[in-house]
Amino acid sequence: IPVIELDDVTKVYPLPAGDVTALSGISIRIDEGEFVAIMGPSGSGKSTLLNQIGCLDRPTSGDLFLAGKNTREMDDRELTSLRLSSIGYIFQKFNLIPLLSAYENVEYPYIMKHRKNDDTGRVRDLLALVGIDESLSTHKPNELSGGQQQRVAIARALVNDPAILLCDEPTGNLDSQTGTQIMEALSELHKKGRTIVMVTHESEIAAYAERTIVIRDGRVA
Ligand code: ADP
Ligand code: ADP
Repeated sequence: IPVIELDDVTKVYPLPAGDVTALSGISIRIDEGEFVAIMGPSGSGKSTLLNQIGCLDRPTSGDLFLAGKNTREMDDRELTSLRLSSIGYIFQKFNLIPLLSAYENVEYPYIMKHRKNDDTGRVRDLLALVGIDESLSTHKPNELSGGQQQRVAIARALVNDPAILLCDEPTGNLDSQTGTQIMEALSELHKKGRTIVMVTHESEIAAYAERTIVIRDGRVA
Protein backbone atom coordinates (compact mmCIF):
# COMPACT_ATOMS: atom_id res chain seq x y z
CA ILE A 1 0.00 0.00 0.00
CA PRO A 2 1.43 3.41 -0.83
CA VAL A 3 1.65 5.56 2.31
CA ILE A 4 2.87 8.49 0.19
CA GLU A 5 1.77 9.14 -3.37
CA LEU A 6 2.54 12.18 -5.51
CA ASP A 7 0.63 12.43 -8.75
CA ASP A 8 2.00 14.91 -11.30
CA VAL A 9 3.07 17.39 -8.60
CA THR A 10 4.40 20.76 -9.74
CA LYS A 11 5.68 23.49 -7.41
CA VAL A 12 6.27 26.99 -8.71
CA TYR A 13 7.72 29.73 -6.51
CA PRO A 14 6.55 33.11 -7.78
CA LEU A 15 9.47 35.54 -7.53
CA PRO A 16 9.75 39.17 -8.69
CA ALA A 17 12.54 38.22 -11.09
CA GLY A 18 10.34 35.47 -12.60
CA ASP A 19 8.74 32.21 -11.50
CA VAL A 20 10.98 29.37 -10.33
CA THR A 21 9.66 25.90 -11.17
CA ALA A 22 11.20 23.86 -8.36
CA LEU A 23 9.24 20.65 -9.11
CA SER A 24 7.76 19.73 -12.44
CA GLY A 25 5.35 16.83 -12.90
CA ILE A 26 6.67 14.59 -10.11
CA SER A 27 4.92 11.22 -9.68
CA ILE A 28 6.24 8.97 -6.91
CA ARG A 29 4.79 6.13 -4.81
CA ILE A 30 6.33 5.13 -1.51
CA ASP A 31 5.04 2.04 0.27
CA GLU A 32 4.57 1.60 3.99
CA GLY A 33 7.85 0.59 5.65
CA GLU A 34 10.11 1.67 2.78
CA PHE A 35 13.38 3.55 3.35
CA VAL A 36 13.85 5.86 0.37
CA ALA A 37 16.72 8.26 -0.35
CA ILE A 38 16.23 11.32 -2.52
CA MET A 39 19.42 12.43 -4.25
CA GLY A 40 20.30 15.12 -6.74
CA PRO A 41 22.47 18.19 -7.21
CA SER A 42 22.04 21.36 -5.16
CA GLY A 43 19.00 23.32 -6.34
CA SER A 44 17.39 20.30 -8.04
CA GLY A 45 14.30 20.45 -5.79
CA LYS A 46 15.04 17.89 -3.06
CA SER A 47 14.08 20.08 -0.08
CA THR A 48 11.02 21.34 -1.94
CA LEU A 49 9.96 17.74 -2.56
CA LEU A 50 10.42 16.81 1.11
CA ASN A 51 8.48 19.92 2.18
CA GLN A 52 5.63 18.85 -0.11
CA ILE A 53 5.54 15.35 1.40
CA GLY A 54 5.73 16.92 4.87
CA CYS A 55 2.75 19.18 4.09
CA LEU A 56 4.79 22.26 4.97
CA ASP A 57 3.58 23.68 1.66
CA ARG A 58 0.95 22.76 -0.92
CA PRO A 59 1.54 21.79 -4.57
CA THR A 60 0.90 24.43 -7.24
CA SER A 61 -0.76 21.64 -9.21
CA GLY A 62 -1.06 17.88 -8.92
CA ASP A 63 -2.09 15.76 -5.95
CA LEU A 64 -0.43 14.49 -2.79
CA PHE A 65 -2.02 11.49 -1.09
CA LEU A 66 -1.00 10.52 2.45
CA ALA A 67 -2.32 7.16 3.67
CA GLY A 68 -4.72 7.25 0.73
CA LYS A 69 -6.16 10.67 1.59
CA ASN A 70 -5.92 13.50 -0.91
CA THR A 71 -4.38 16.44 0.97
CA ARG A 72 -5.97 18.84 -1.54
CA GLU A 73 -9.35 18.06 0.05
CA MET A 74 -8.15 19.05 3.53
CA ASP A 75 -8.27 22.56 4.93
CA ASP A 76 -5.23 24.03 6.70
CA ARG A 77 -6.40 22.84 10.13
CA GLU A 78 -6.88 19.27 8.97
CA LEU A 79 -3.50 19.36 7.24
CA THR A 80 -1.75 20.65 10.39
CA SER A 81 -3.38 17.93 12.45
CA LEU A 82 -2.38 15.27 9.91
CA ARG A 83 1.18 16.62 9.96
CA LEU A 84 1.39 16.54 13.77
CA SER A 85 0.17 12.96 13.99
CA SER A 86 1.63 11.33 10.85
CA ILE A 87 4.92 13.05 10.07
CA GLY A 88 8.17 13.46 11.98
CA TYR A 89 10.76 15.83 10.54
CA ILE A 90 14.54 15.79 11.06
CA PHE A 91 16.63 18.68 9.75
CA GLN A 92 20.29 19.14 8.89
CA LYS A 93 20.62 21.93 11.47
CA PHE A 94 18.63 20.03 14.16
CA ASN A 95 16.25 23.02 14.66
CA LEU A 96 15.81 22.43 18.39
CA ILE A 97 14.28 25.27 20.41
CA PRO A 98 17.28 26.94 22.15
CA LEU A 99 15.45 27.94 25.36
CA LEU A 100 14.02 24.47 26.01
CA SER A 101 15.85 21.51 27.55
CA ALA A 102 16.35 18.28 25.61
CA TYR A 103 13.37 16.81 27.47
CA GLU A 104 11.16 19.82 26.76
CA ASN A 105 12.12 19.85 23.08
CA VAL A 106 10.96 16.24 22.73
CA GLU A 107 7.79 16.92 24.73
CA TYR A 108 6.83 20.02 22.73
CA PRO A 109 5.07 18.34 19.74
CA TYR A 110 3.37 15.98 22.22
CA ILE A 111 1.86 18.99 23.99
CA MET A 112 0.86 20.51 20.64
CA LYS A 113 -1.05 17.36 19.77
CA HIS A 114 -2.48 16.30 23.16
CA ARG A 115 -2.85 19.73 24.80
CA LYS A 116 -1.23 18.38 27.96
CA ASN A 117 2.15 17.30 29.32
CA ASP A 118 3.36 13.75 28.80
CA ASP A 119 2.39 11.71 31.86
CA THR A 120 3.01 8.37 30.11
CA GLY A 121 6.81 8.28 30.29
CA ARG A 122 7.00 8.39 26.50
CA VAL A 123 9.44 11.32 26.35
CA ARG A 124 11.77 9.68 28.86
CA ASP A 125 11.61 6.34 26.99
CA LEU A 126 12.34 7.97 23.62
CA LEU A 127 15.35 9.84 25.02
CA ALA A 128 16.64 6.51 26.35
CA LEU A 129 15.95 4.85 22.97
CA VAL A 130 18.12 7.37 21.12
CA GLY A 131 20.87 7.11 23.74
CA ILE A 132 20.42 10.39 25.61
CA ASP A 133 21.19 9.76 29.30
CA GLU A 134 18.85 11.07 31.96
CA SER A 135 21.64 13.44 33.06
CA LEU A 136 21.61 15.10 29.62
CA SER A 137 17.85 15.52 29.43
CA THR A 138 17.95 18.82 31.33
CA HIS A 139 20.62 20.25 29.01
CA LYS A 140 19.79 23.01 26.55
CA PRO A 141 20.72 22.38 22.88
CA ASN A 142 23.87 24.58 23.15
CA GLU A 143 25.06 22.31 25.98
CA LEU A 144 24.90 19.25 23.70
CA SER A 145 27.17 18.03 20.89
CA GLY A 146 25.88 17.97 17.31
CA GLY A 147 25.33 14.22 17.48
CA GLN A 148 23.46 14.53 20.78
CA GLN A 149 21.30 17.32 19.36
CA GLN A 150 20.40 15.17 16.36
CA ARG A 151 19.49 12.28 18.70
CA VAL A 152 17.18 14.63 20.59
CA ALA A 153 15.72 15.76 17.24
CA ILE A 154 15.03 12.11 16.30
CA ALA A 155 13.28 11.54 19.64
CA ARG A 156 11.24 14.70 19.04
CA ALA A 157 10.28 13.50 15.55
CA LEU A 158 9.01 10.22 17.04
CA VAL A 159 7.06 11.56 20.01
CA ASN A 160 3.65 11.42 18.31
CA ASP A 161 4.47 8.02 16.77
CA PRO A 162 4.30 9.21 13.14
CA ALA A 163 4.00 6.69 10.32
CA ILE A 164 6.46 8.70 8.24
CA LEU A 165 9.88 10.07 9.14
CA LEU A 166 11.28 12.75 6.82
CA CYS A 167 14.98 13.57 7.05
CA ASP A 168 16.63 16.49 5.25
CA GLU A 169 20.42 15.89 5.13
CA PRO A 170 20.30 14.35 8.64
CA THR A 171 24.09 13.92 8.81
CA GLY A 172 25.02 17.11 6.94
CA ASN A 173 26.26 18.92 10.05
CA LEU A 174 27.97 15.93 11.67
CA ASP A 175 31.44 14.39 11.43
CA SER A 176 31.46 11.06 9.62
CA GLN A 177 31.68 8.88 12.75
CA THR A 178 28.72 10.64 14.40
CA GLY A 179 26.90 10.57 11.06
CA THR A 180 27.32 6.79 10.92
CA GLN A 181 25.80 6.48 14.42
CA ILE A 182 22.81 8.59 13.41
CA MET A 183 22.33 6.50 10.23
CA GLU A 184 22.45 3.33 12.33
CA ALA A 185 19.75 4.80 14.59
CA LEU A 186 17.60 5.55 11.51
CA SER A 187 18.21 2.03 10.15
CA GLU A 188 16.98 0.57 13.46
CA LEU A 189 13.77 2.61 13.15
CA HIS A 190 13.33 1.36 9.59
CA LYS A 191 13.77 -2.25 10.73
CA LYS A 192 10.97 -1.67 13.24
CA GLY A 193 8.69 -0.71 10.33
CA ARG A 194 8.91 3.06 10.10
CA THR A 195 8.62 4.61 6.63
CA ILE A 196 11.64 6.90 6.06
CA VAL A 197 12.23 9.41 3.28
CA MET A 198 15.67 11.04 3.42
CA VAL A 199 17.25 13.77 1.32
CA THR A 200 21.01 13.49 0.92
CA HIS A 201 23.67 14.36 -1.62
CA GLU A 202 26.09 11.73 -0.27
CA SER A 203 25.95 8.27 -1.84
CA GLU A 204 27.43 6.64 1.31
CA ILE A 205 24.43 7.98 3.24
CA ALA A 206 21.95 7.02 0.50
CA ALA A 207 23.35 3.47 0.69
CA TYR A 208 21.47 2.98 3.99
CA ALA A 209 18.18 3.28 2.06
CA GLU A 210 16.55 0.47 0.04
CA ARG A 211 15.74 2.66 -2.93
CA THR A 212 17.10 5.93 -4.32
CA ILE A 213 15.10 8.45 -6.31
CA VAL A 214 17.27 10.90 -8.25
CA ILE A 215 15.91 14.40 -8.86
CA ARG A 216 17.31 16.64 -11.57
CA ASP A 217 15.90 20.06 -12.46
CA GLY A 218 12.70 19.31 -10.55
CA ARG A 219 12.02 16.01 -12.35
CA VAL A 220 12.57 12.36 -11.47
CA ALA A 221 15.71 11.37 -13.40
P1 ADP B 1 19.91 22.91 0.25
O1 ADP B 1 20.92 22.82 1.36
O2 ADP B 1 18.88 21.84 0.25
O3 ADP B 1 20.50 23.19 -1.10
P2 ADP B 1 19.27 25.71 0.42
O4 ADP B 1 20.33 26.13 1.38
O5 ADP B 1 19.39 25.99 -1.04
O6 ADP B 1 18.99 24.15 0.62
O7 ADP B 1 17.87 26.24 0.90
C1 ADP B 1 17.38 25.97 2.18
C2 ADP B 1 15.93 26.48 2.23
O8 ADP B 1 15.93 27.87 1.90
C3 ADP B 1 15.02 25.84 1.17
O9 ADP B 1 14.40 24.66 1.61
C4 ADP B 1 14.03 26.92 0.90
O10 ADP B 1 12.94 26.88 1.79
C5 ADP B 1 14.80 28.19 1.11
N1 ADP B 1 15.25 28.73 -0.21
C6 ADP B 1 16.11 28.17 -1.08
N2 ADP B 1 16.25 28.92 -2.17
C7 ADP B 1 15.46 30.00 -1.98
C8 ADP B 1 15.19 31.16 -2.76
N3 ADP B 1 15.72 31.35 -3.97
N4 ADP B 1 14.35 32.06 -2.24
C9 ADP B 1 13.79 31.88 -1.04
N5 ADP B 1 14.01 30.82 -0.26
C10 ADP B 1 14.83 29.88 -0.72
P1 ADP C 1 17.68 21.35 -3.21
O1 ADP C 1 17.09 20.97 -1.91
O2 ADP C 1 17.80 20.20 -4.17
O3 ADP C 1 18.95 22.10 -3.08
P2 ADP C 1 15.53 23.26 -3.29
O4 ADP C 1 14.27 22.49 -3.23
O5 ADP C 1 16.02 23.93 -2.06
O6 ADP C 1 16.66 22.32 -3.94
O7 ADP C 1 15.41 24.36 -4.44
C1 ADP C 1 14.92 24.09 -5.76
C2 ADP C 1 14.78 25.40 -6.50
O8 ADP C 1 13.72 26.16 -5.94
C3 ADP C 1 16.01 26.27 -6.43
O9 ADP C 1 16.08 26.97 -7.67
C4 ADP C 1 15.70 27.22 -5.28
O10 ADP C 1 16.39 28.43 -5.42
C5 ADP C 1 14.20 27.39 -5.41
N1 ADP C 1 13.54 27.61 -4.13
C6 ADP C 1 13.52 26.74 -3.08
N2 ADP C 1 12.78 27.24 -2.06
C7 ADP C 1 12.32 28.44 -2.48
C8 ADP C 1 11.49 29.45 -1.88
N3 ADP C 1 10.98 29.30 -0.64
N4 ADP C 1 11.22 30.56 -2.61
C9 ADP C 1 11.71 30.68 -3.85
N5 ADP C 1 12.49 29.78 -4.48
C10 ADP C 1 12.81 28.67 -3.79
